[in-house]
Amino acid sequence: MIRAVIVVAVCLLAGCDRAVTVPRSMDADALGHSAPTQHTVTANNELASLLDLDDPADFVNAERGLIARSESLRITRDDGRVVWDQDQYGFVAGDAPESVNPSLWRQARLNGLHGLYEVTPGVYQVRGYDLANLTIIVGETGWILVDPLTMRETAAAALAFARAHLPPKPVVAVLFTHSHVDHFGGVDGVLTPEERSNVRIVAPAGFLHEAVSENVIAGPAMTRRAGLMYGRPLARSIRGHVDTGLGKEPAANGRVSILAPTDIVDHTVQQMTLDGVRFEFQFAPGSEAPAEFTFFLPDLGAFCGAEVLSRNLHNVYTLRGAKVRDALRWSNYIDEALGLFGQRATSYFGSHHWPVWGTPEIVAYMKKQRDVYKYIHDQTLRMANQGLTSAEIAEAIELPESLRREFAVRGYYGTARHNAKAVYQFYFGWYDGVPAHLDPLPPEPAGRRYVEFMGGADELLSNAEQAYAAGDYRWVAQVVNHLVFAEPDNVVARALLARSYDQLGYQAESGPWRDVYLTGAYELRHGPAPGNVNLADAGGLLARIPIASFLDSMATRIDGQKASGVTMTINVVFTDVDETHVLEMENAVLHHHQGIADADASATLTLTRSLFLRLVTGSAGLRETLFSDELEVDGSVTELISFFLLLDRQAGPFNIVTP
Ligand SMILES: [Zn+2]
Repeated sequence: MIRAVIVVAVCLLAGCDRAVTVPRSMDADALGHSAPTQHTVTANNELASLLDLDDPADFVNAERGLIARSESLRITRDDGRVVWDQDQYGFVAGDAPESVNPSLWRQARLNGLHGLYEVTPGVYQVRGYDLANLTIIVGETGWILVDPLTMRETAAAALAFARAHLPPKPVVAVLFTHSHVDHFGGVDGVLTPEERSNVRIVAPAGFLHEAVSENVIAGPAMTRRAGLMYGRPLARSIRGHVDTGLGKEPAANGRVSILAPTDIVDHTVQQMTLDGVRFEFQFAPGSEAPAEFTFFLPDLGAFCGAEVLSRNLHNVYTLRGAKVRDALRWSNYIDEALGLFGQRATSYFGSHHWPVWGTPEIVAYMKKQRDVYKYIHDQTLRMANQGLTSAEIAEAIELPESLRREFAVRGYYGTARHNAKAVYQFYFGWYDGVPAHLDPLPPEPAGRRYVEFMGGADELLSNAEQAYAAGDYRWVAQVVNHLVFAEPDNVVARALLARSYDQLGYQAESGPWRDVYLTGAYELRHGPAPGNVNLADAGGLLARIPIASFLDSMATRIDGQKASGVTMTINVVFTDVDETHVLEMENAVLHHHQGIADADASATLTLTRSLFLRLVTGSAGLRETLFSDELEVDGSVTELISFFLLLDRQAGPFNIVTP
């Protein structure tokens, strides 16, 4: 699910935002989150009454095949920093507290079950050691690993746990089902140096490119937004983060890497035999990930849906910000897989969540996964063609009873509402056709004028307090947000907005919605948490970014106003990869071409790729580096420095919930 956002946090983020002391409510917890109101309790109870939350089927399946479970599961790095901690979720047990949506709570309990499990003889999963699952397929001489988690530390711990409880074998192949970092980043943790050079690495076509470059350009903003989507600064508590819906949370503080594939999957059905095990692959690009496959093991009757299928409604659009996905194509891949593998499968497993057993059960599960995306797609288009706009469709869309009652398609991760907006966006873009929405005022000036039209801050707050008392939290958030953007230091407004976000979070069934609201409340009270991205930890990924992708990203940091009128050509010679790129500034735009150095360039910079990355990301200063042996400049040093000064610097985590 998560894309390689780490890579790209090419700006080192440090704390900012003014200190504003927001008044705490009487019943606040340690981080200031207010108590659930009676309206929230009622809303959560009403949802509970509509669902069969005590249905044991998922718990039975999630525990089926358990071989071993560690009492405590806390994975630390060599320097002691915690990379993964299931123990902190010990509070997710029993009935839902009033401050958590009861359906999300149920999913959070299921995602908290960790251990080594048998799916079917010869197929094992280590679950709950990271956001995703590590799957082990036993071959004739060794193990074929599927999706080695996000980080070296979690992957190593998961593999070690499996080796302690199964007859241990060397790793002979690794499958990366798709290009999201939670499925490949830990590869260094599962291979010995010897295995590293001998194993077969199987990935879908486009894997390496998508994995290392898809987020380079948008990295800093995507990383910042991911902090809200995953509730990074929140306590793990009944008024904080409880689950993402897809798993507990992305691992953190560990080291991320990648390996180039030796075997590419690029068509359906593609047959392959790995260590005596027969595979039938379905190539499914442009589904949940831009590069993805599913596969069937005909001799074992086992189907792996990767992340094209999961046990929640997934994201057609992900809230941290990413290119919108094609819901119809996604559904069609599941339909294709149903025809190819569904009737032959006796067990199903995926890259997240727990398996399904029995052909009728698998077919029923696949049909509902297929239909939830198609329903949202088709109904969005139907309503759009009747004249409804994005926001109106999102408000109107409701899954049919047969899907609504199915836990595996409920909106624990994506939601029908924001996925309907995604489908609208896919076909129609951001503009809903309403002329007043073509060029509205931005939030700050609009906020000031709304406040004025509403009779000033006091009048607005007094009305908003009444709406809050009535439990109308969406409206309170919408209105008070105008005041916070007009008067960011208005502590009464910040406190009321934070309290409305608390309630919206407590009522949300989607893990990301809960985290977005509660992190919004956190930031109103405390400011944005400092970022903790360490480029060195992503070294195994950064080294794989094509230089051209990195230069594309560098071009997006040129300050257009400063660069106005600048005409300049610079050669950059990368000694370690034997590539020369010519950079040209003209019309305040940076172009780059790989080829032969331009003899008329202002300067030629000769250095290694890693030093260039450090220079551009600001982790090495140009002036300090200029006279070292690591770098050579031929031509005008002054022009070279003036070029680097055209690049924007990211000072810290930018504000989102305040102006
Ligand atoms: Zn994933």
